[in-house]
Amino acid sequence: MKLIFEKSVPGRRCTILPACDVESVSLPDSLRREEKPALPEMSETDISRHYTELCKQVHGVNCGFYPLGSCTMKYNPRIDEEMAALPGFAGVHPLSPAQDRKGMQQVLDTAAEYLCQITGMDDMTFQPAAGAHGEFTGVLLIKQYHDARGDKKRTKIIVPDSAHGTNPATAAMCGFDVVNIASGPDGCVDLDALRAALGEDTAGLMLTNPNTVGIFDKNILEITRLVHEAGGLCYYDGANLNAVMGVVRPGDMGFDCIHMNLHKTFATPHGGGGPGAGAVGCKAFLKEFLPHSALAEEPGHIQVRSFQGNFLVVVRALAYLLTLGKEGIPEAAENAVLNANYLMAKLRGTYTPAYDRLCMHEFVLDLSDLKKETGVSALDVAKSLIDEGIHPPTMYFPLIVHEALMLEPTETEGIETLDHAAEVLRKLYHKAFEDAASMHTAPHNMPIGRPDEVQAARKPVLRWKNT
Ligand SMILES: *Cc1c(COP(=O)(O)O)cnc(C)c1O
Repeated sequence: MKLIFEKSVPGRRCTILPACDVESVSLPDSLRREEKPALPEMSETDISRHYTELCKQVHGVNCGFYPLGSCTMKYNPRIDEEMAALPGFAGVHPLSPAQDRKGMQQVLDTAAEYLCQITGMDDMTFQPAAGAHGEFTGVLLIKQYHDARGDKKRTKIIVPDSAHGTNPATAAMCGFDVVNIASGPDGCVDLDALRAALGEDTAGLMLTNPNTVGIFDKNILEITRLVHEAGGLCYYDGANLNAVMGVVRPGDMGFDCIHMNLHKTFATPHGGGGPGAGAVGCKAFLKEFLPHSALAEEPGHIQVRSFQGNFLVVVRALAYLLTLGKEGIPEAAENAVLNANYLMAKLRGTYTPAYDRLCMHEFVLDLSDLKKETGVSALDVAKSLIDEGIHPPTMYFPLIVHEALMLEPTETEGIETLDHAAEVLRKLYHKAFEDAASMHTAPHNMPIGRPDEVQAARKPVLRWKNT
């Protein structure tokens, strides 16, 4: 596809301004440009077509299936966008007089009340802007708790090897040493490894349950009991709450604080890097350490972002909660689990599930045999899916599974989509034996196929420069 600058035709215009009805004046030469600015010259039709074509290059959940594991790329109901766009919410200024912010406060309080009910927590902050930011806030609660009791020897945070990469990064950023513990063959925390890691220096444990291989840890009560017995606290990474919301509560599993990604489970579109919210909930004994908004002006409190965080993300979450209601929330979770198990069952026999047992909202396939036999990697299969109109699943994560593809179909997909995805994935499996070469170079129908991923992440070129 051509850049808008390449489509430019000298002299072409789309005049939308009325005729000038004031006297025109000429600027003195000293204030004038020496060269014309490098702006594209186009007709309105061509501009409209250009942006529509650009729009078609993007795969969103509105274009097709998007089974990106751990990320919950589910359909976000339009009504939540409409609520966030209401002028009273969209236009509220955090420094406006308190009586003008009453509606805003009510939204925050109500959302906190419902989300506390869902997670089994006692209080909540919406300040953090993302999941990783929420983790940072949550682990700071743990740090403040130990510090406040004068317990300075607790320097370690335990993280299982199946954890999201942000967990060890968070612990390190908060100044803790990270202790990695291996998962057992069943994908769950190895209790002996946990016991061996626990001690007087344990500040806490960070855990996702169901974990990143989509398995609910059956020993969760024993795990949190052991950590508490050692004097540590338990942090729940609830970035993705899709399997458990309204069904089981992290608070009842023994967790002391948690974050949720409102932009995954609770109706804010994400994936393009827009605003999010990593709501952090905690039990009552940690409440005093929660961040306060800048307006509270209480010294000694952490503050991780200005004011109340991304307020409109909370509006969407509350609209979502109110629309689904007490019955709809667990039903969504049950359907997410049902869809994941359905898709896994459809693929079993062709692909190898990394852990072949009932999964929660997502599951991981292990493609190492396919790679050994055909040379076709998980990356090749993922790239080939793009040509079929399906967004690749999460790849090479979690790290404990080699050649991993992690699929999360979500509850908003119908049976036809799941059947079609299973059919396409099976077709690609067989293609690997017949035409591996074309899979190594897929996708073939996209403007960009195989970017240098390291360069693209570290040195992205996001802007065209006029040379
Ligand atoms: C997405 C995710 C995170 C990080 O959330 P961000 O909003 O991207 O910072 C943390 N943990 C898990 C399990 C996740 O899936």
